[in-house]
Amino acid sequence: MATIKATCPMCGDVDLTPRQVHVRVVEAIEDDLSRRTYTFGCPQCHEDVEKAADAEVVRLLSTAGVEIERVPVPAEAREHHGGAPIGYDDLLDLALWLETTDDLMAELTARTAS
Ligand SMILES: [Zn+2]
Repeated sequence: MATIKATCPMCGDVDLTPRQVHVRVVEAIEDDLSRRTYTFGCPQCHEDVEKAADAEVVRLLSTAGVEIERVPVPAEAREHHGGAPIGYDDLLDLALWLETTDDLMAELTARTAS
């Protein structure tokens, strides 16, 4: 089994097994915006240590047998939004518009086409 050397801020270099290390990758659409961390419980002081990792560290830890947890971020979370937030007046306008609109699809199609 591979031995992984990591550095605890209190104890210095420590040896770990792949099962003692946890890697988490929060995946953004653009790979360079993904957030990568690895954590381990220090075998000497028993503190939980979390450190940032780059793609190469993740690859090396994966090769050593560490299980990688991948957390996908939905595309909607990364959308850029413009304009003011929807307010009560907007909802009232929508409700009034819906009361006077019989053919919703025709209205929406006409609005998006223009
Ligand atoms: Zn320690």
